[in-house]
Amino acid sequence: MIEIIIGREAGVEKSRLALMAGDKTAYCGNPGSVPRSVSRKHCRLVIHEDSTLSVSDLTDNNFMYVNGSDCKSRGHITVNDKVELGPDRYCLELSTIVKAFAAQQTYHIASLKEVYDNYNKTKLDNQIRQGKLNALSALPGVLSMSSMVLAICLNNEGIRIVMIVLAAVFAVGVVIVRMKNSSNNPLKMKQLEDGYHDRYVCPNPSCRHFLGSMQYKDLLKNGACPYCKAKYVE
Ligand SMILES: [Zn+2]
Repeated sequence: MIEIIIGREAGVEKSRLALMAGDKTAYCGNPGSVPRSVSRKHCRLVIHEDSTLSVSDLTDNNFMYVNGSDCKSRGHITVNDKVELGPDRYCLELSTIVKAFAAQQTYHIASLKEVYDNYNKTKLDNQIRQGKLNALSALPGVLSMSSMVLAICLNNEGIRIVMIVLAAVFAVGVVIVRMKNSSNNPLKMKQLEDGYHDRYVCPNPSCRHFLGSMQYKDLLKNGACPYCKAKYVE
């Protein structure tokens, strides 16, 4: 949660918008862009973890409007809603404010390690299973070839027939396993990929960019989101 006090820059003739969070103040807009009808501390904007916003009017009689209606306080709004301050209806650029502040935050990314490791382990396990299945598929052929060689070497038709039957049973078994696998596997892989795309993302609520191109250890080493530059720690 980030709490920002918003108002008109103090002590200058041509004011910008002042954004105060903790002991830091940032300014935005051009000098003179904020009318005097905006108070020094006009409203409080809260950016919640789920990226929704709350806004409340800190003035007694200087007005705040949300989507055109005069109100003192409103929760569950987003950057697409319209917040205006004072009788001159100075419009806040919510998306710019949220982006700037969310990117200054530090996010713990330890939970991404589990997502990354789990995805890669499941993918590797699947590749190994596919490799084993491919190896098994070759076995019926090997069995029937061996049966011919054995039958010739031992001059024993009985062994040849037993091995051909074994090869046939094995071939049917392999076909059944492969059919089962080919119908289940693409679905499982799609679910795995979808889950990875949903969960291996920047924890900054205003970014949420998919981080799939970067390994977890590189994210930690770089210490920041490559897209929004939010800081990362374990
Ligand atoms: Zn980001």
